[in-house]
Amino acid sequence: MHTLFIADLHLDASRPQITQLFEDYLASDEARQADALYILGDLVEAWIGDDDDAELPQRIAHATKELRDAGVPVYFMVGNRDFLLGEDFARRAGFTLLDDGTVHTLYDRPTLLMHGDVLCTDDVAYQAVRKQVRTPEWKAQILAMPLEARRAFAAKAREDSRAHTGSTMETIMDVNAGAMAETMDKASVTRLIHGHTHRPAVHRLELGGQPAERIVLGDWYEHGSVLKVTPDGVELRGLAVG
Ligand code: MN
Repeated sequence: MHTLFIADLHLDASRPQITQLFEDYLASDEARQADALYILGDLVEAWIGDDDDAELPQRIAHATKELRDAGVPVYFMVGNRDFLLGEDFARRAGFTLLDDGTVHTLYDRPTLLMHGDVLCTDDVAYQAVRKQVRTPEWKAQILAMPLEARRAFAAKAREDSRAHTGSTMETIMDVNAGAMAETMDKASVTRLIHGHTHRPAVHRLELGGQPAERIVLGDWYEHGSVLKVTPDGVELRGLAVG
Protein backbone atom coordinates (compact mmCIF):
# COMPACT_ATOMS: atom_id res chain seq x y z
CA MET A 1 0.00 0.00 0.00
CA HIS A 2 1.46 3.31 -1.04
CA THR A 3 0.48 6.76 -2.29
CA LEU A 4 2.78 8.84 -4.47
CA PHE A 5 3.44 12.58 -4.56
CA ILE A 6 5.30 14.66 -7.11
CA ALA A 7 5.52 18.41 -7.82
CA ASP A 8 7.65 21.00 -9.57
CA LEU A 9 8.48 18.91 -12.62
CA HIS A 10 8.57 22.07 -14.70
CA LEU A 11 8.16 19.95 -17.83
CA ASP A 12 9.32 21.84 -20.89
CA ALA A 13 10.19 21.00 -24.49
CA SER A 14 13.77 22.13 -23.76
CA ARG A 15 14.33 19.20 -21.33
CA PRO A 16 13.05 16.12 -23.19
CA GLN A 17 14.88 13.70 -20.87
CA ILE A 18 12.73 14.89 -17.95
CA THR A 19 9.50 14.45 -19.93
CA GLN A 20 10.71 10.94 -20.74
CA LEU A 21 11.47 10.28 -17.06
CA PHE A 22 7.94 11.40 -16.15
CA GLU A 23 6.40 9.09 -18.75
CA ASP A 24 8.58 6.16 -17.69
CA TYR A 25 7.79 6.69 -14.01
CA LEU A 26 4.03 6.84 -14.60
CA ALA A 27 4.29 3.55 -16.51
CA SER A 28 6.41 1.90 -13.76
CA ASP A 29 5.15 -0.86 -11.45
CA GLU A 30 5.46 1.50 -8.47
CA ALA A 31 3.07 3.98 -10.11
CA ARG A 32 0.69 1.34 -11.48
CA GLN A 33 0.39 -0.30 -8.04
CA ALA A 34 -0.15 2.96 -6.15
CA ASP A 35 -3.37 3.80 -4.31
CA ALA A 36 -3.19 7.26 -5.90
CA LEU A 37 -0.82 9.76 -7.53
CA TYR A 38 -0.87 13.39 -6.43
CA ILE A 39 0.69 16.14 -8.55
CA LEU A 40 1.02 19.22 -6.33
CA GLY A 41 1.60 21.93 -8.91
CA ASP A 42 4.14 23.23 -11.42
CA LEU A 43 3.87 20.12 -13.53
CA VAL A 44 4.94 22.30 -16.45
CA GLU A 45 7.26 25.26 -16.82
CA ALA A 46 4.45 27.37 -18.30
CA TRP A 47 0.79 26.58 -18.97
CA ILE A 48 -0.80 28.90 -21.51
CA GLY A 49 -4.28 27.39 -21.63
CA ASP A 50 -6.08 24.08 -22.08
CA ASP A 51 -6.40 24.81 -25.82
CA ASP A 52 -2.59 24.63 -26.31
CA ASP A 53 -2.09 22.21 -29.22
CA ALA A 54 1.66 21.65 -28.63
CA GLU A 55 3.07 18.13 -28.22
CA LEU A 56 3.93 18.37 -24.50
CA PRO A 57 0.37 18.77 -23.11
CA GLN A 58 -0.74 15.84 -25.26
CA ARG A 59 2.06 13.64 -23.97
CA ILE A 60 1.22 14.58 -20.38
CA ALA A 61 -2.49 13.82 -20.86
CA HIS A 62 -1.65 10.50 -22.47
CA ALA A 63 0.66 9.43 -19.62
CA THR A 64 -1.73 10.41 -16.81
CA LYS A 65 -4.82 9.06 -18.59
CA GLU A 66 -3.15 5.67 -19.01
CA LEU A 67 -2.38 5.58 -15.29
CA ARG A 68 -5.95 6.61 -14.48
CA ASP A 69 -7.30 3.95 -16.83
CA ALA A 70 -5.11 1.39 -15.06
CA GLY A 71 -7.16 2.16 -11.93
CA VAL A 72 -4.94 4.71 -10.16
CA PRO A 73 -6.68 7.98 -9.22
CA VAL A 74 -4.63 11.01 -10.30
CA TYR A 75 -5.10 14.21 -8.29
CA PHE A 76 -3.83 17.56 -9.52
CA MET A 77 -3.41 20.89 -7.75
CA VAL A 78 -2.23 23.91 -9.71
CA GLY A 79 1.03 25.73 -8.92
CA ASN A 80 2.15 29.20 -9.86
CA ARG A 81 3.32 28.00 -13.29
CA ASP A 82 0.17 26.15 -14.31
CA PHE A 83 -2.69 27.95 -12.56
CA LEU A 84 -4.39 28.43 -15.95
CA LEU A 85 -4.91 24.67 -16.18
CA GLY A 86 -8.65 23.96 -16.03
CA GLU A 87 -11.43 21.39 -16.25
CA ASP A 88 -11.02 20.79 -19.99
CA PHE A 89 -7.49 19.52 -19.70
CA ALA A 90 -8.26 17.77 -16.40
CA ARG A 91 -10.94 15.73 -18.18
CA ARG A 92 -8.59 14.78 -21.02
CA ALA A 93 -5.78 13.90 -18.62
CA GLY A 94 -7.95 11.96 -16.18
CA PHE A 95 -7.09 14.34 -13.32
CA THR A 96 -9.28 15.17 -10.37
CA LEU A 97 -8.57 18.84 -9.60
CA LEU A 98 -7.90 19.73 -5.95
CA ASP A 99 -8.03 23.16 -4.34
CA ASP A 100 -4.84 24.39 -2.70
CA GLY A 101 -5.14 23.56 0.99
CA THR A 102 -7.20 20.38 0.60
CA VAL A 103 -6.98 17.85 3.46
CA HIS A 104 -6.96 14.18 2.44
CA THR A 105 -6.74 11.34 4.93
CA LEU A 106 -3.95 8.94 3.97
CA TYR A 107 -3.95 5.66 5.90
CA ASP A 108 -5.86 7.26 8.80
CA ARG A 109 -3.67 10.36 8.90
CA PRO A 110 -5.25 13.69 7.88
CA THR A 111 -2.74 15.38 5.59
CA LEU A 112 -2.79 18.96 4.35
CA LEU A 113 -1.85 19.33 0.68
CA MET A 114 -0.58 22.60 -0.78
CA HIS A 115 1.54 23.81 -3.65
CA GLY A 116 3.40 25.87 -1.05
CA ASP A 117 3.59 29.35 -2.51
CA VAL A 118 0.90 30.83 -0.25
CA LEU A 119 3.11 29.99 2.76
CA CYS A 120 5.98 32.12 1.42
CA THR A 121 4.53 35.22 3.07
CA ASP A 122 7.91 36.96 3.45
CA ASP A 123 7.94 37.49 -0.31
CA VAL A 124 5.55 40.43 -0.27
CA ALA A 125 6.10 41.33 -3.94
CA TYR A 126 5.30 37.77 -5.04
CA GLN A 127 2.12 37.62 -2.93
CA ALA A 128 0.90 40.89 -4.47
CA VAL A 129 1.42 39.57 -8.01
CA ARG A 130 -0.20 36.25 -7.06
CA LYS A 131 -3.31 38.01 -5.79
CA GLN A 132 -3.59 39.99 -9.02
CA VAL A 133 -3.12 37.15 -11.52
CA ARG A 134 -5.41 34.66 -9.76
CA THR A 135 -8.57 36.73 -10.22
CA PRO A 136 -11.14 35.29 -12.68
CA GLU A 137 -10.96 38.59 -14.60
CA TRP A 138 -7.18 38.39 -15.15
CA LYS A 139 -7.34 34.73 -16.13
CA ALA A 140 -10.20 35.37 -18.56
CA GLN A 141 -8.30 38.27 -20.11
CA ILE A 142 -5.18 36.14 -20.70
CA LEU A 143 -7.15 33.16 -22.03
CA ALA A 144 -8.99 35.44 -24.47
CA MET A 145 -5.66 36.24 -26.19
CA PRO A 146 -4.85 34.25 -29.36
CA LEU A 147 -2.77 31.11 -28.66
CA GLU A 148 0.27 32.51 -30.49
CA ALA A 149 0.18 35.69 -28.42
CA ARG A 150 0.03 33.65 -25.19
CA ARG A 151 2.96 31.54 -26.41
CA ALA A 152 5.02 34.68 -27.05
CA PHE A 153 3.97 36.08 -23.66
CA ALA A 154 5.20 32.93 -21.88
CA ALA A 155 8.50 32.92 -23.81
CA LYS A 156 9.09 36.56 -22.93
CA ALA A 157 8.35 35.94 -19.24
CA ARG A 158 10.84 33.09 -19.23
CA GLU A 159 13.51 35.23 -20.90
CA ASP A 160 12.97 38.06 -18.41
CA SER A 161 13.25 35.66 -15.48
CA ARG A 162 16.42 34.17 -16.92
CA ALA A 163 17.97 37.59 -17.42
CA HIS A 164 17.02 38.48 -13.85
CA THR A 165 18.38 35.41 -12.05
CA GLY A 166 21.12 34.40 -14.47
CA SER A 167 19.76 30.87 -14.67
CA THR A 168 16.65 28.93 -15.62
CA MET A 169 15.88 28.34 -11.95
CA GLU A 170 14.06 30.99 -10.04
CA THR A 171 15.14 31.98 -6.57
CA ILE A 172 12.27 31.19 -4.25
CA MET A 173 11.95 32.37 -0.69
CA ASP A 174 11.27 29.65 1.86
CA VAL A 175 7.99 29.21 3.71
CA ASN A 176 7.30 31.39 6.72
CA ALA A 177 7.30 29.26 9.90
CA GLY A 178 4.46 31.22 11.50
CA ALA A 179 2.25 31.01 8.41
CA MET A 180 2.92 27.27 8.23
CA ALA A 181 2.05 26.63 11.90
CA GLU A 182 -1.10 28.74 11.65
CA THR A 183 -2.26 27.00 8.44
CA MET A 184 -1.66 23.52 9.88
CA ASP A 185 -3.42 24.45 13.11
CA LYS A 186 -6.43 25.81 11.24
CA ALA A 187 -6.63 22.61 9.16
CA SER A 188 -6.26 20.47 12.34
CA VAL A 189 -3.46 18.37 10.84
CA THR A 190 -0.06 17.22 12.03
CA ARG A 191 1.20 16.53 8.51
CA LEU A 192 1.70 18.91 5.59
CA ILE A 193 2.98 18.01 2.11
CA HIS A 194 3.94 20.75 -0.34
CA GLY A 195 6.33 21.67 -3.13
CA HIS A 196 7.26 24.99 -4.72
CA THR A 197 10.41 25.88 -2.76
CA HIS A 198 12.62 23.21 -4.38
CA ARG A 199 14.07 22.35 -0.96
CA PRO A 200 13.19 18.66 -0.60
CA ALA A 201 13.18 17.50 3.02
CA VAL A 202 11.19 15.79 5.75
CA HIS A 203 11.01 18.27 8.62
CA ARG A 204 10.02 16.88 12.01
CA LEU A 205 8.54 19.55 14.23
CA GLU A 206 6.29 20.13 17.19
CA LEU A 207 2.95 21.88 16.92
CA GLY A 208 0.94 22.63 20.04
CA GLY A 209 2.95 20.03 21.93
CA GLN A 210 2.31 17.33 19.32
CA PRO A 211 4.84 15.78 16.94
CA ALA A 212 4.20 16.98 13.39
CA GLU A 213 5.90 16.85 10.03
CA ARG A 214 6.27 19.05 6.98
CA ILE A 215 7.37 17.25 3.83
CA VAL A 216 8.75 19.29 0.96
CA LEU A 217 8.80 17.69 -2.50
CA GLY A 218 11.81 18.15 -4.77
CA ASP A 219 11.94 19.64 -8.26
CA TRP A 220 12.66 17.74 -11.48
CA TYR A 221 15.22 20.07 -13.06
CA GLU A 222 18.13 17.62 -13.23
CA HIS A 223 16.54 14.41 -11.92
CA GLY A 224 13.19 13.32 -10.59
CA SER A 225 11.89 13.39 -7.02
CA VAL A 226 9.11 11.27 -5.52
CA LEU A 227 7.48 10.98 -2.11
CA LYS A 228 6.06 7.60 -1.20
CA VAL A 229 3.59 7.55 1.69
CA THR A 230 2.74 4.20 3.27
CA PRO A 231 0.78 3.27 6.42
CA ASP A 232 4.17 3.11 8.19
CA GLY A 233 5.68 6.42 7.15
CA VAL A 234 7.19 8.41 4.31
CA GLU A 235 10.11 8.01 1.93
CA LEU A 236 11.42 10.91 -0.18
CA ARG A 237 13.83 9.92 -2.91
CA GLY A 238 15.39 11.00 -6.18
CA LEU A 239 14.85 9.40 -9.60
CA ALA A 240 17.78 9.16 -11.97
CA VAL A 241 17.41 10.06 -15.65
CA GLY A 242 17.43 7.01 -17.97
MN1 MN B 1 5.89 26.84 -7.75
